[in-house]
Amino acid sequence: MKPPPFAYHRPRSLEEALDVLAGLGGEGKVLAGGQSLVPLMSMRLSAPPALVDVNHVPGLDAVEVDDVVVRVGALARHSRVEHDQAAYAAVPLLRQALRLVAHPTIRNRGTTVGSLVHGDPAAEMPAVLCLLDGSVTLRSADGSREVAAADFFTGPMETAVRVGELAVATTFRRPPAGSRSAFVEVSRRHGDYAICGVGAVVSEGSATVALIGVGAGPVLVPLPEPADADAVAGLVDAAIDPEDDIHASADYRRHLAHVLVRRALVEAA
Ligand SMILES: Cc1cc2nc3c(=O)[nH]c(=O)nc-3n(C[C@H](O)[C@H](O)[C@H](O)COP(=O)(O)OP(=O)(O)OC[C@H]3O[C@@H](n4cnc5c(N)ncnc54)[C@H](O)[C@@H]3O)c2cc1C
Repeated sequence: MKPPPFAYHRPRSLEEALDVLAGLGGEGKVLAGGQSLVPLMSMRLSAPPALVDVNHVPGLDAVEVDDVVVRVGALARHSRVEHDQAAYAAVPLLRQALRLVAHPTIRNRGTTVGSLVHGDPAAEMPAVLCLLDGSVTLRSADGSREVAAADFFTGPMETAVRVGELAVATTFRRPPAGSRSAFVEVSRRHGDYAICGVGAVVSEGSATVALIGVGAGPVLVPLPEPADADAVAGLVDAAIDPEDDIHASADYRRHLAHVLVRRALVEAA
């Protein structure tokens, strides 16, 4: 199928992009990598009257590492982040999770920031943002604001991004020195969205897991360390709220959550 007709805007600067978005109000939708939005439009599940293609806005594709964070610009493709050596050295979890996002061809075009804004409950990078206590920087014609990961994901495919706002970057906080991490998941076919997935960060005296596919968004579960297996299972059970769908039953997702939490903690260790 083809998408319904839409107006197409191609701003050449950040200021122009923000002006166009402000002028369009609720009619305008940002087009980044198009790997989620274009299929939705083609299936007519989404029909925005206007697209604002930000791919020609300069200065949004950087991946920067400092002593505190890895900062990823709105146009940094998944593959750029995945293969950035400095980002990997600072936060190995980025690559550990990104290698599980779709296929290389999709990662060559899809953006990490776009994945966060899209807010799919089965997506890996929202879980990584929560695990690493990250944030998203939002700009509009009226100014700028920073939204913490804990406040960013507001429901299935819903985030704190408001009409007229462009997510210009995201920051992932570096875990404490000596931390270890892993991301594991189960999907029906390699490259599919996960039925369930778990990221883990284990530091001296603390461990945290984030689960995907078992709630309205990423589910963050801080764990006691050293962790007693029954206590971990109880905490995970209380935090998740899986649903039946065409891919798996709620019971199977709950079973996977327990298996994958154990697997992620072992792999991280
Ligand atoms: C076959 C297939 C398999 C996939 N498997 C996975 C998977 O396993 N895991 C996974 O996480 N993802 C998966 N994806 C999705 C992929 O990761 C997308 O790249 C990502 O979800 C969206 O990024 P994008 O840059 O393509 O955004 P787009 O498709 O361009 O946009 C997605 C949404 O975010 C908004 N948006 C994007 N960027 C911004 C911005 N900077 N500011 C404000 N709004 C913005 C758009 O308006 C739109 O609503 C898959 C996609 C396909 C086609």
